Amino acid sequence: MQAQETKAIFNQPWHELSEQELVQRLNTHLTKGLTSAEVQTRRQQFGANELTAKSGTHPILRFLLQFHQPLLYILLVAGAIKAFLAEWVNAGVIWGVTVINAIIGFVQESKAENAIAALASSVQTDATVVREGVKQQIASTELVPGDLVLLASGDKVPADLRLIQVKNLQINESALTGESLAVSKTTAILAAETPLAERTNMAYAGSFVTAGQGRGMVVAIGDQTETGRISQLIDQRTNLSTPLTRKFDQFSRILLYIILAVAAFTFVVGLGYGNSWVTMFEAAVALAVSAIPEGLPAVVTITLAIGVSRMARRHVIVRKLPAVETMGSTTVICSDKTGTLTENQMTVQAIYAGGESYRVTGSGYDPKGEISAPHHSHERAAADPNSDFNANPALQACLIAGLLCNDSHLTVKDGFWSVVGDPTEGALLTVANKAGLNREELETQQPRLDSIPFESEYQYMATLHRGGRESGVRLPRASADGRWEAEGRNQENGAIQLSQSLNTIYVKGSVEAILQRCRQGMDQDGQLVGLDPAEVHRQVDQMAAQGLRVLAFASKSVPTTQDAIDHPDVASDLVFLGLQGMIDPPRAEAIRAVRACQTAGVQVKMITGDHAATAAAIAHQMGIQKHGDVKALTGQELAQLNDSELPTVVEDRVVFARVAPEQKLRLVEALQAKGEVVAMTGDGVNDAPALRQADIGIAMGRAGTEVAKEAADMILTDDNFASIEAAVEEGRTVYRNLLKAIAFILPVNGGESMTILISVLLARELPILALQVLWLNMVNSIAMTVPLAFEPKSERVMQRPPRHPNQPLLSANLLKRILVISVFNWILIFGMFEWIRQTTGEVDLARTMAIQALVAGRIFYLLSISQIGRAMAARLRGQAVCIRDAGAIGLGIIATVMLQVIFSQWSVMNALFSTAPLNSMQWLICLAAGLPMLLIAAGVNRFDPLD
Ligand code: ADP
Ligand code: MG
Repeated sequence: MQAQETKAIFNQPWHELSEQELVQRLNTHLTKGLTSAEVQTRRQQFGANELTAKSGTHPILRFLLQFHQPLLYILLVAGAIKAFLAEWVNAGVIWGVTVINAIIGFVQESKAENAIAALASSVQTDATVVREGVKQQIASTELVPGDLVLLASGDKVPADLRLIQVKNLQINESALTGESLAVSKTTAILAAETPLAERTNMAYAGSFVTAGQGRGMVVAIGDQTETGRISQLIDQRTNLSTPLTRKFDQFSRILLYIILAVAAFTFVVGLGYGNSWVTMFEAAVALAVSAIPEGLPAVVTITLAIGVSRMARRHVIVRKLPAVETMGSTTVICSDKTGTLTENQMTVQAIYAGGESYRVTGSGYDPKGEISAPHHSHERAAADPNSDFNANPALQACLIAGLLCNDSHLTVKDGFWSVVGDPTEGALLTVANKAGLNREELETQQPRLDSIPFESEYQYMATLHRGGRESGVRLPRASADGRWEAEGRNQENGAIQLSQSLNTIYVKGSVEAILQRCRQGMDQDGQLVGLDPAEVHRQVDQMAAQGLRVLAFASKSVPTTQDAIDHPDVASDLVFLGLQGMIDPPRAEAIRAVRACQTAGVQVKMITGDHAATAAAIAHQMGIQKHGDVKALTGQELAQLNDSELPTVVEDRVVFARVAPEQKLRLVEALQAKGEVVAMTGDGVNDAPALRQADIGIAMGRAGTEVAKEAADMILTDDNFASIEAAVEEGRTVYRNLLKAIAFILPVNGGESMTILISVLLARELPILALQVLWLNMVNSIAMTVPLAFEPKSERVMQRPPRHPNQPLLSANLLKRILVISVFNWILIFGMFEWIRQTTGEVDLARTMAIQALVAGRIFYLLSISQIGRAMAARLRGQAVCIRDAGAIGLGIIATVMLQVIFSQWSVMNALFSTAPLNSMQWLICLAAGLPMLLIAAGVNRFDPLD
C-alpha cells in the first residue's frame, strides 16, 4: 500500500500543473523548500536518488567471450582432435589449461572493469538546493521529491524537475531525446498531451545546463526519473579496449596465420620424412601451441588496471581506459592557469580608483591588513595628522561593487579564513573587509534584485540592487592616517547616502569587457568625468606586469522600475569605478612539474582567460617559456589567424591569453595538425568540445562543471598541474611495463617454436611436448609476467622524449632483442635435451631438464629487466642505490620455483605432463645452464634499454 502510494506520486502530469498545484501535491514551499524533518521522512520513504546498477553483459556470456580469441580456437581444436584420438589425458590437460586461462582472464577483466567504474562514480555530483530557506550544496544522491533545486550553467540536472523559474535557461537533453541542440526552457503550463521532448517546463535528470539559470522542484528521483526508466537500454559497461589492446589483437591475428602456415608446413615435411600422421599431428600442435603467447592478454589487462589505480593514488581519476596509455605519449599539455598552475589563493594587493593608486597589505582571506596610498605614507601622516588625505568616493564605490557584485562568502574556522565559492570573489570580500565595509549592512540597504552570473564567455558579472547613489555626493573622509577604518566612517556625514529614486547595477569583470562599456569614470571627488582608457590601461599593465590578476569595476544607475537585468542592460553607459589587482601565486609543485615535463620532452602551454600581461608574468615565474620569450598570444590575435598559418603559430607560442572557450577547440586541432598528442584541461561548459577533441581531455574535479567532467577522459581530484605530470609519468610506466611483458614473453615462444621446427626438420625427437609448452606458456608465463605489471617507475622515465604515437608495438630493437633471447632459449632447450638424452637415454628426464633450464634462464632474464635486478647490479658495481618495491618480482620468482618443483617432482604432474623427477645435481646443472642468460641479457639491455 505504501509502495503503491510511493509510486503514484511520481506518475503525475507535472507539466500541466500550476505552481499552486505543484506546491500542494509535493507538499513543499515555493521559496523556502522543504524542512529538515520533511527531508528526513522522504529520504526514508523514497530512498537515495540513484540509479540501480544494471548489470551489463551476463557473467556467463562474459566468461565464454574469454574463449573468443583466434589463438584459443587453435587450442580448443587441438584438444578436440586429441579427444578424437582417445588421448583423454592430453585432451583434458589442454582443455583444463584453456579453462584456467579463461578464469584468470575473466576475474582480471571484471576486477579491472569494476575498479574503473567505481573510480569514475566516486566523483560525486553536487546539487544546489534550498531547504528551510537556506541555499546549500548537497550530494545529488541526497535529493528527495519536493526539493527545491537551483540550476546554473554547467550543472548536470540531478533529478527530474518541474521548472518554476528560468532565466535564459538552456538544457541539452541529447542523452534522453537524441536532440543535440540545447532546448530553451520556460515555466509555462503545457497541455497534457505534450510529448516528452517538448515539455519545455521540465528538466530531466542526466541532461546538462548549457546556459542560464533556473529553479525547479524535484518530481522524480532515481529509477523513477525518465532516464532511470530507459537506462536499461544504455550499456553502462566500461570499455576495456585501448589502442594498445587493439594492436595486440591485430598482432595475434597475423601471428595466427603465420602459425597455421608453419604448422601445416611442419606437418607436410614430417610426413615426407615418413613419420606417422599422428606423430606429425602432435608436432604441429606443439608448434602451434608454442608460438601462441597465451599469457599476454591477461598481463595487458592487469598492467592497465594497475596504471589506473596508481593514477588514482596520485589524484588522477581515469574515466576512459585508453587515456592511461595515451597519457604516456602526450607531447603537449595545454593547461589552464588559474587554479591549476596557480594556487587559486587570491589576495588583492593593488587598487586604482579615482586616479589614485593604493597598496593593500595582508595575506590570504584574513581581513587583517590596510589599504594605503603610497604617497600618503605613514611617516607623513604621523608628521602631519591633518594631512589632506581626501577620502576617495571612487575607492569606496569600487570596494562596494566588489562586495555586492559577488556570489561567494568567507568563513572562519579556528582563526583561519577561507572562501566558499570563487577565490577571485573571496579576495574582493577580504579587501572590502579590510576597508571596514560591512556586507550585511550594505545588503540590507541595497538588496539585490537580480544578477547575471559570471561566465568565461562574457568575462563579467553584474548585479542589480535597489537604491542608488546620486553622483557627486561626498563620501566620508578616512581617518587621519589615510587608512580606511570601520570606525572612521561617519554615516551622518553623508557617508552612504542612498537615494530610493534609483536602482544600481554593479558590474565587475575583465578590463577589456568593462572599459568598452564605459564612457565616464568616477573621480576622487565622486564626480563623473570623461574616461581616459589609455591611462587605465597603463595602470592595468603595471599591475599585470607583476603577475596580478586585474578586475575592473563599474556601476550604472537605472530607474526603480527596473527589477531585472540582462546583457543588453549593461552593454553601454557604465561608470568606471576602478581596478583591483590580486596576486595568485604559482603552485610550487606546479613549477617543479613544469620543469619535469620539459625534461621529459613534453611542451607545456598556458591557456587562460586572463589578461595577456598577467599570463605572461606568471608564465615567466613558472618557467613556461620557449626561446626566452613569454609574450602571450591573445584570443583576438588568434581569431585573425587563418587555418593555414594557425598550426605553426600555435606550435611556436606558449602562452595564450584572453582565450574564449570556443577557441580552445581550434588550438587543439591546430596542434594535432602538427602531429602533436594533446592533453587539454578545462572546467567550463564551453570547454567540452575541446576536451572531447583533445587526445586526453582533463577536467577539474573541484572547480570543474559536470559538463566538463562528462566530456573528459581524466579528472584531477586536486585541480593541480602537478597531477597531470604524475599521470604522464604513470602512463609512460604502464607502457614500459607492457613492453617489458612483451619482451619477456615472446622470446619463450620464439625459443619453443624454433626448437620444435628445427627438430622436425632435422628429423629428431621433439625436445618438448605440446602439453609441456602449454604449461610454460600459461602457468609459468603468468606467474612470471604478472609481477612486471607491478614494476615501479624508473628514475629515467621522465628523462626521455615522449614515445612517438605511431611507433609500432614491435620496434626494430625490440624484435632484435626477442630474436637474440629466442636463440639462446633454443640453445638451452635443444642443447640440454640432446645432451641428457644422449648421456642417459631417458627421454622424459631430458625433456624435464630442458624445461627447467629454460625456466632458470627465464628467472635470470626477469631479474635483468626488472628494476630490482638493475638495482642489485648497480649495488654490485658499488653504487649506492636502494633496492625497493622488490615484493612483486620476489613473489613471482618464489611462486615460479615452487610450481617448477611440483611440475617435475610430483608424481601426478609426472603422469599428466610426462615429466620426470630430478636429483639435486640435475637441478644444479639446470640452474648453471641458465646463468649465461645474465650476460646475454646485459648485452641486450645495452642496445635496447627497457626501463
Ligand atoms: P582563467 O580561469 O583562465 O583565469 P576566466 O575565464 O576564469 O580565466 O576569467 C577571465 C577573466 O574574467 C579574468 O581575467 C577576470 O578579469 C574575469 N573574471 C574572472 N572571474 C570573475 C568573476 N567571478 N566575476 C567577474 N569577472 C571575473
Ligand atoms: Mg577561472
